[in-house]
Amino acid sequence: MTLKHVTIVGGGSAGWITAAYMNAVLNNDTQKTVEFTVIESPTRPRISVGEATVPTISHLLQTLKIDENDFMGGTGATFKQGIKFVNWLKQDDHTYYHPFDRRETGATGYRATRDWLKSDRSIPFAETVSVQPRLCDMNYSPKLAESGRYESPLTYAYHLDAERFADYLCTYAKSNGVRHIEEDVVEVTMAEDDRISAVITSSGKAIKADLFIDCTGFSSLLIGKKLGVGFKDYSQWLLCDRAVTMQIPYEHHYPGQIRPYTLSTALSAGWVWDIGLQDRRGVGYVYASAFLDDTSAEQALREYEGKHSADISCRTLKFSVGRREQFWVSNCVAIGLSAAFVEPLESTGINMIEFAAITLAEHFPYNNDFKPLAARYNKIMSNRFNDALSFINLHYCLSQRSDSAFWKEVQCQEHIMETVQERLDLWQLKRPSEADFDNHFILFNHINYEYILNGMNFMMSETGDHNIRPATVVPEVVLKNIELGATHLIPHDTWLQQNLGMKQYPTGK
Ligand SMILES: Cc1cc2nc3c(=O)[nH]c(=O)nc-3n(C[C@H](O)[C@H](O)[C@H](O)COP(=O)(O)OP(=O)(O)OC[C@H]3O[C@@H](n4cnc5c(N)ncnc54)[C@H](O)[C@@H]3O)c2cc1C
Repeated sequence: MTLKHVTIVGGGSAGWITAAYMNAVLNNDTQKTVEFTVIESPTRPRISVGEATVPTISHLLQTLKIDENDFMGGTGATFKQGIKFVNWLKQDDHTYYHPFDRRETGATGYRATRDWLKSDRSIPFAETVSVQPRLCDMNYSPKLAESGRYESPLTYAYHLDAERFADYLCTYAKSNGVRHIEEDVVEVTMAEDDRISAVITSSGKAIKADLFIDCTGFSSLLIGKKLGVGFKDYSQWLLCDRAVTMQIPYEHHYPGQIRPYTLSTALSAGWVWDIGLQDRRGVGYVYASAFLDDTSAEQALREYEGKHSADISCRTLKFSVGRREQFWVSNCVAIGLSAAFVEPLESTGINMIEFAAITLAEHFPYNNDFKPLAARYNKIMSNRFNDALSFINLHYCLSQRSDSAFWKEVQCQEHIMETVQERLDLWQLKRPSEADFDNHFILFNHINYEYILNGMNFMMSETGDHNIRPATVVPEVVLKNIELGATHLIPHDTWLQQNLGMKQYPTGK
């Protein structure tokens, strides 16, 4: 078999995940079938946000045979066991969790939603089916002190430093034979058959390849600018289009603990992410510019963070919600922000990249016949994108907030996706189940939907008008596991200190 050449333009998380993963699965120690080159601009910075992941990331890391503690140390990573939503339903300190774990399965798990809706709902739904909300509130690590690499009684993902993540994978990929060229791509040349023939770098090198992967972020240099593949705008379904972000080093202010979950707090025109790493927290207000100007957004983020944020600088980012009409055209595939972006809620960005790299490796065009492979790849990726879009759309349209123009607007019918409305109609009549999903390639299944629906008090019609409601019951198995967790797990920061050598910081400083 002749050696194939793949050139990836862009060295952010997308470029390096794709290079590291595809190089690992398409080549082996004795035989190299595909040679990978990553061209990364030394002058155009990565976007360097994207600090929350979902549990699928452990598949990526384990496929690469990366030592977990080395990875966590190298990327400043901490554990994430889900998301805690604050003030999404109403602005009254209402909270709910979307945890990764679901402990209560079998017959009682099957009845969980209906039983909970018929009860007085004095205990949040998630606490009746998962141990993680309670253990997260107690700031426990998902791992035991003695848990091995990638082992844990509880499902987890990571919070990580996006810049260090890309650097870590860059070092890894290079040590495994990926070529790295640190230059700008200034021109893209075409062959007669509408394929890209080469990319020209700032020093005049022509880098040829059989397949080009566009990982140039929002600039979308190859697939957008050169090949002219259009961008489908989905801002009708998700109104947020900006984020103002801030990083607070623990040397400056340490809040006394590191939350083992992402905190997502709704504000007047969007929501704030709050993520603790080993040496700093990252916060970001994701907002809709049609409802809030940049200065007011920054002010709101500073108010959220408190007085100690006064001398910390902020960064404002613009983004568009949508995707390329096609992800793979001719011999060019877009992965990462050049391909699509939903919005940061539910951390789908890095997962989409992992999924794209896995899917592309599986559909690798060994014989240069792109069309059937590209058609299938495009279908799979657009389904995956729609899955993320619908799931995030649901979070907004179930809100009952009426305290700002933004929250009133997101609840209007014109901003509720048809697929979401169809499911909501169905779920008034039956609990969500696997049968409601046609698509195999989804990230969010009925279990994820149940957490959001019940967290946001979405009623099934048969459960809405009962006057006499029994107290909510937490099943014995859940209670027992919470007790076990509280006995055997250790605080998140202690785990990080003991296993990764995280520094200790004085609280409040
Ligand atoms: C506000 C915000 C918050 C987010 N939060 C999350 C999150 O919590 N979780 C999550 O999973 N995802 C999140 N994402 C998405 C995540 O940030 C991205 O999916 C991820 O960082 C991948 O980015 P990228 O590599 O596609 O682009 P970038 O990081 O922008 O990288 C682009 C690369 O292309 C290079 N480049 C550009 N032009 C050229 C050129 N002409 N020549 C050579 N190189 C070039 C740049 O130098 C850079 O290396 C978030 C996104 C935003 C906007």
